[in-house]
Parts: sequence; structure tokens; C-alpha cells
Amino acid sequence: MSSPRSIAIVGGGLGGLACARILQMRNIPVVVYEREPSMSARQQGGSLDMHPDTGFTVLEMAQLVDEFKKVARYEDQGFKLASIDGTIHFDSEAGDNWGQDDEDRPEVDRIQLRQIFLDSLRPNTVKWGQGVSKVVENDNKVTVHFIDPALEPAVHDFIVGADGAWSRVRPVISTAVPEFSGMIYIDIFIKDVQKKYPHLANYLKSGMALVLGDNKGLISQRNANDVVRVYAAFRKPASWPEEVGLKTLVDAGRWDEANQLLSKQYEGWNTVATGYFQVPPFSMDVRPLYALKHHSWETNAHMTLVGDAHMVSPPNGVGANNAMLDGAELGVVIAENVSANEEDWLKAIKAQENKIQQRAWASQQEDLSFGAMISEGDSAARVAETFKQVLAAAAQH
Ligand SMILES: Cc1cc2nc3c(=O)[nH]c(=O)nc-3n(C[C@H](O)[C@H](O)[C@H](O)COP(=O)(O)OP(=O)(O)OC[C@H]3O[C@@H](n4cnc5c(N)ncnc54)[C@H](O)[C@@H]3O)c2cc1C
Repeated sequence: MSSPRSIAIVGGGLGGLACARILQMRNIPVVVYEREPSMSARQQGGSLDMHPDTGFTVLEMAQLVDEFKKVARYEDQGFKLASIDGTIHFDSEAGDNWGQDDEDRPEVDRIQLRQIFLDSLRPNTVKWGQGVSKVVENDNKVTVHFIDPALEPAVHDFIVGADGAWSRVRPVISTAVPEFSGMIYIDIFIKDVQKKYPHLANYLKSGMALVLGDNKGLISQRNANDVVRVYAAFRKPASWPEEVGLKTLVDAGRWDEANQLLSKQYEGWNTVATGYFQVPPFSMDVRPLYALKHHSWETNAHMTLVGDAHMVSPPNGVGANNAMLDGAELGVVIAENVSANEEDWLKAIKAQENKIQQRAWASQQEDLSFGAMISEGDSAARVAETFKQVLAAAAQH
């Protein structure tokens, strides 16, 4: 191919935006089709910690470390783990240390991180409100069709599917479909925590607190601007929130009643953490968690996948970090091969796909994922033991 391929990205999450940024840094024209009508269209999710070898590496590749440091919360890296009877297995605020390396993993709210990438892109790179309904290969090109029938289909040479767990690009190259993981998170946002509920703020202090046991969890996490995000986590059938009436209450905004119902699920838990159910939330959502495991596909000259579109897991602390690296690395590969002949192009895309698949599979095998944490009996004690072993082993290398 003598003229450069025209590139489009479907999905303006962290994976898609990282890819776009790297492409533009190399002067490769790119457009990002995003379903949401604007940046502020929805709650963007909680705080993320940037891992040195993935998320933070991407910030360096994208020359955005200075912007990141303006909003990063280096002070919010605390971690506490307790059983439901109140036994504390680990409390970094109390000086606990299991021999982990002391590399920083600064926290940042997802909305702030996404904004940093958006601000780094050229004007009109992201086409807001242009949700993709399907992509179709024809005449050695790929045509992108939009949900909005008023929008003309767009034709490109190559599409990056960065459109998350329910990707509209994936079905063209793979029959895989995410499966229910057996876990449900009730996602609760509480505002003004230090100001109005100092007892909860003092319990959480900085960073994250996990209370785990009996197939449940209460995971709380400090976010920027005095917000705390709480995940009430359950190992239950997907239909459970409907069956007990929780979904109806949450969707109707009847959050005080939803809190009462949740509170009952945690009866007997010996911890102040259940106090989160005694205060009014700013928002509440029911999130059944899905997984797409050990996913691979035959390389296609016109499209590939990054981030949750190729691999989605119940939260294990690496999904967004991996998505960013998937996107950024792919950006480099595209830029270096954008005018390559078909054989070299396929070789380059295949090599990159192998890399991101290996990374995804490795992270899915880690048993420190929250999936393993939400299990029967005293799962906190088991998780503590695993953490000790893994971190001690890591410290020896
Ligand atoms: C509760 C929870 C907590 C988590 N905590 C962490 C954490 O602490 N650390 C971490 O690293 N990861 C975490 N993750 C995982 C992380 O959120 C994902 O792995 C990450 O967001 C994947 O990024 P992505 O860009 O691939 O996809 P997404 O973030 O899903 O972005 C996809 C984008 O595509 C858009 N889109 C979707 N469909 C279409 C369409 N048809 N057309 C156009 N646009 C479309 C969406 O609007 C969205 O903007 C967590 C996940 C959950 C559910």
C-alpha cells in the first residue's frame, strides 16, 4: 500500500484515547467515534491507580505526566483489608508492609484521566454522539455504520475496536461473547464524606478498604473532591437484584430503601464500614460483572481490538491500565506501518495482538482479582495469605 491507511477508533474510553494520542503525536490522522453525547454524559467511574509498567508508562509515552501530576493523588495509596468479624489483616496506615516494593501507584479519578487525554487531542478528533451500530468489510475497506440513522456511514482502511465489553467491532472477527462472572457490584457514590460523615472518612482514611467474607464484600475507595465510592459486592445469580427488588429501587432512585435492603445483607458484620448504608448516596447503580476470558481471533487486515473489547474481567485493578497500554502500543505499531504492504501490515498487527493477548491472559490468571476475593468463608484471611506470598516473592526479584 503506497498511500497511508485511513484510521478510525470506535470508542473514546482510555484505550481508544491513548491510541488516538499516540497516533496524533506521530502525525497520523485519526478520528474517534464515541457513543456518548459529550464528556459529561455519564458518571465515569471511580479512582484508578496508575501502575508503573502500564498506565504510567503510557502517560510517559503520551508526554502527559506533567498534566497527570496536577491531579494525581499520591497520598491516596493506603490499603486496608479486614474480615467480617473486624479482624484487620493489613492496614498500611498502621504501618503494615508485606514486603512489597515501594513503587508509587498514584491514584486519579477516571474522569480526570480521560479529560487529560481528551485535552491532548486535536479539536474535533472525538465525534461525540456517533455510536457505532456495526462495521462491515467490503472492497478491501471497512464501513462504519452509526446508531443514528441520520449519520452517513463512514469508510476507512482500518478500525480499532476500543468500544468496551459489548464491542460492535468484535463480532466481525470473533464469536466470543462476555459471560456473567457470578458477581454483582452495587456501585454507590457518597459526596462530602469528610465534611458530613467524618466517622466514615476516618474509617477509610486514604486509599481503599476491603471487608470480605461469606461471598460478599464491602469495598470502599477514596476519590477526589471528598467523594467515596463504595462497591457492595455479591456472588449471586444475575437475576438476584431483580428478584429481591434491589434493581427496581436503585433504578427508581429510591436509594434510602435500597440502602436498607443492602444493610440487611450485611447483618452481623462487625465493622463501621456498613455505616456507608446509613448515609444518602449521590448516585447508585447495579452492575452485573462480565468476563471474556482467554480470547483470541484470526488477525484481520481491517480491524483489531484493544482493552475491554478484547478482554474483560471482573475488576482486578489492571483493566484500565492494560487498555491504555494496548491502545498506546497499537498506536505506535499503526504509525510505523501505516503505509506498509498488506503482508507486512498483517505481520505487524498480529505481533501486537499476540502481545496484548498474552498480557490479558496473564492478568486473568492472577488470583488476586476481586473475583477470588468475593468467595465463601473467611475470604479476607485467604486473600491476606495470598497477598503476603505474592508480594514477598515480587520483592525478592
Ligand atoms: C467497578 C469497576 C472497577 C474497576 N476498577 C479498576 C481499577 O481500579 N483499575 C483498573 O485498571 N481498571 C479497573 N476497572 C476496569 C476498567 O474500567 C476497564 O478495564 C477499562 O475501562 C477498559 O477501558 P476501554 O477503553 O477498553 O473500555 P471502556 O472504558 O469501556 O470505554 C469504551 C468506550 O467506548 C464507548 N462505546 C461503547 N460502545 C460504543 C459504540 N457502539 N460506538 C461508539 N462508542 C462506543 C463507550 O461509551 C466508552 O467511552 C474497573 C472496572 C469496573 C467495572
